[in-house]
Amino acid sequence: METNRKLFLLFTGTLTLFAIAIMINAAVNFRNYSYNNAIGKAHMAAEIVRDGLTAHMVNDMMDKRSHFLEMMSTGNDVKRLWVVRSKKVEEQYGKGLKSEMPRDEIDKKVLETGKEIDRFYEDFDSAVLRVTIPYTASSYGKIDCLRCHRAKEGDVLGAVSLEFDISDLRREGLWTLAKIAMITVVFIVLSLLLVKYLVTPYIRFFKTLEASLKRAKHGDFGLKVQTDIDAADIRAVAERYNELIEKFQNTIGKIEQKLAIFLKGSSHYCEDPLEKATHTIDMLSEIHRFKNTIELDKDLNQIYGRLATITGEIMSAEGMAIFDVDSVSKTRRVVYNSGNESVCRTETFERSDLCRAFRTDAPVVSDQYPELCPGYCGSYSFYYCIPFDITERRCLIITLLTDSKQKIEHFKKEETVLRYYLENSKPVIQSKLLMQQLEEKSLRDGLTGLYNRKFLEEMIDKINRQGNRHMTRYGVLMLDIDSFKMINDTYGHDVGDTFIKLLVETINHEIRSSDIAARYGGEEFVILLHEATPEGALKVAEKIRKLFSRIPVSVKGKKISSTVSIGVSFYPECASNLREAIKFADIALYKAKKSGKNHVVLFSEELPADNPQESINSCSSKDSAPE
Ligand code: GH3
Ligand code: MG
Ligand code: MG
Repeated sequence: METNRKLFLLFTGTLTLFAIAIMINAAVNFRNYSYNNAIGKAHMAAEIVRDGLTAHMVNDMMDKRSHFLEMMSTGNDVKRLWVVRSKKVEEQYGKGLKSEMPRDEIDKKVLETGKEIDRFYEDFDSAVLRVTIPYTASSYGKIDCLRCHRAKEGDVLGAVSLEFDISDLRREGLWTLAKIAMITVVFIVLSLLLVKYLVTPYIRFFKTLEASLKRAKHGDFGLKVQTDIDAADIRAVAERYNELIEKFQNTIGKIEQKLAIFLKGSSHYCEDPLEKATHTIDMLSEIHRFKNTIELDKDLNQIYGRLATITGEIMSAEGMAIFDVDSVSKTRRVVYNSGNESVCRTETFERSDLCRAFRTDAPVVSDQYPELCPGYCGSYSFYYCIPFDITERRCLIITLLTDSKQKIEHFKKEETVLRYYLENSKPVIQSKLLMQQLEEKSLRDGLTGLYNRKFLEEMIDKINRQGNRHMTRYGVLMLDIDSFKMINDTYGHDVGDTFIKLLVETINHEIRSSDIAARYGGEEFVILLHEATPEGALKVAEKIRKLFSRIPVSVKGKKISSTVSIGVSFYPECASNLREAIKFADIALYKAKKSGKNHVVLFSEELPADNPQESINSCSSKDSAPE
């Protein structure tokens, strides 16, 4: 209920109750006054009647008493007056006048009990008070009744009944009440008008204040409060309030301007700019914390894992996968998968253009067309793929999976928030990629693209540090192009380089992706064959040797070919560590050179070492001669 209405009802109610209370009080008092007044008159009249009758009796004029009684019954508001005799008086003086017979039960009862009875008769037109007062015998006071009456002290001698017409008094009372009521109504109306006059400016002030606060809640701080109330405290409130909202207007305006960029497209809808700003600032601080965390992450895999966690929190998808796409090589790899099954077909990993999100560079939502992307092969009913460019060459595809169509709407709504996270992660991922590339470059050989000796050393250290926990076996091949100096000297360095590249192509053709080939020196190479058996390793070495020798290189119209010698050893069968295994392979290579080049020689303890102090383990020995 509004304040002015409430005040109006409160005042009216209070004043009305007050008026009713006054009127009831006045009515009761007036009635009591009229009643008591009539009773008093009755007693006075009764005394006069008694004295009159006594005088008649003393003067032996009792036969003249009816005139006296008639006189008494007229005037003084007395409507009727009659006197009745008691049995005792009747016995002594006879029946008396006819009019002195008891007229009703009240007369009889008063004669019987000696107690006064008062009755009030009232109807719409008239109001009558009937009072019946007993006369009791008494020898005290100014009249000694016992002198004439044969009665005892206290005996009832008779009674006088009087009826007073108090209609006028009642009318007078009602009229007085009506006047009081009228005065009260006028007073109430005047009071209300006065209250309204005094309270209205305050109500208006509070209404403006309320309207201003309502608008402020929705971000509009333009409504200032004005007041014509001549009260210092209210004016101070208005001034302070106006100062406050002006300050808010300026501050919020600036905050809004600054946050506008982040609020754009935010899924969090809120009219209150303060709440909106708080939400955005919360989000920004979360993003900032996330960025700080990933900056300290060790490698890209850890960052991708963290991105997957935050994506899971924002999107609450039932399944999720993240792909890292290389747009130059058109290949992609899974960097995160929440489940065990593959989400995309195998072909998409070799041909990234089969991925619709990558090809169109726009989100792919399967809610309308389930077959939208030909690459999808997951078991979830719906997928939502978000492509996000990290560099010109690299792109992330975030695939969100769900069985509920409603979730897709949630994904659409929250995509902006996820993009804020991705956008902020982008420079960190870029710098990690750059670091990775630099590291890759420093570990790769420029001419052949193979890993260099530095990489090999680091890898060997790593395997040694880990203590080869998985007991991986390696077949170790050491290769050296035969008489390479002569090729260089005869045909020039470019031809030498061509042979180096040719040998690398041959090596790459023969080894598996889990094997590692490195350029060890000028025309020397080391190959670590992952989990290779001695037979397998020798077979690979032989294949390389044969293939290389059969591929000719054209030099000035002349076809020339070269050969390679290969030393083979094994880890852990022949050596206690990989470094030692490489050394042994080198010894075997030395043997291959010594025995006429273009050979594959398996290391054995009988082989002469470059350094005689080196410990040589026993290992099976096999020499393969050229065809
Ligand atoms: P051997 O059969 O005993 O191995 O004889 P070799 O002539 O191959 O002897 P050596 O291994 O000493 O010769 C290696 C030569 O390879 C020396 C060097 O000038 C040359 N060389 C090293 N790196 C490169 C390179 O990147 N390109 C070219 N063209 N030549 C290189
Ligand atoms: Mg050499
Ligand atoms: Mg050589």
